[in-house]
Amino acid sequence: MISVLEMKGITDPKVLAAMAKVERHLFVEAPFVNRAYEDSALPIGHEQTISQPYTVAFMTQALAPKPADRILEVGTGSGYQAVILATMGCGVFTIERHLGLLTSARKMFDGLKLRIASKGGDGTIGWSEFAPFDGIIVTAGAPEVPESLKKQLAVGGRLVIPVGDRDVQKLVIMKRTEDSYLVEEVFGFKFVPLVGKNGWS
Ligand code: SAM
Repeated sequence: MISVLEMKGITDPKVLAAMAKVERHLFVEAPFVNRAYEDSALPIGHEQTISQPYTVAFMTQALAPKPADRILEVGTGSGYQAVILATMGCGVFTIERHLGLLTSARKMFDGLKLRIASKGGDGTIGWSEFAPFDGIIVTAGAPEVPESLKKQLAVGGRLVIPVGDRDVQKLVIMKRTEDSYLVEEVFGFKFVPLVGKNGWS
């Protein structure tokens, strides 16, 4: 899996090291364990998926987290992305709207002895009690960038979020400066929809 990520252009050694360390087969359902190290998204129940390893690596590289950064993740899913960030030394806060997925992810965090703050609910409104965040990563596709998340980003922080229609999205990488937001866009991603107050209905 790591050589495929390198071949596809992932260069950040901290991202590659975390992805080499975290065992993806622990996060997929039994019928898919033998496909855990393929570069594909796989079902995790509730019509949701664990993202393709390349997508996880690309988004994490775009987020460029430093150890001890406080990162908000919207869309806990299996917990894999949160564990990658925690393995890189970040303080992770993650929100999931499907309580069944959240319960399994919490078991995973406990089993791996990782302190990851998590809650059930609508992540499109962010987690204001713990804002501002050095980074925000949204792992489901939004119709537009929620203002609520932009506001919860620290100056110098980055927000990485897929934006588009329900079928195909571009990845928006937004950096907050003192007085504005700098935006970079990368095309050609496909995520499950971000459902909530500031997402899809
Ligand atoms: N990061 C996950 C992982 O590592 O397995 C992959 C997540 S999956 C591609 C997207 C997740 O976003 C789904 O579990 C979905 O239920 C969740 N989601 C969608 N809308 C949400 C919302 N408004 N708030 C929180 N979670 C949401």
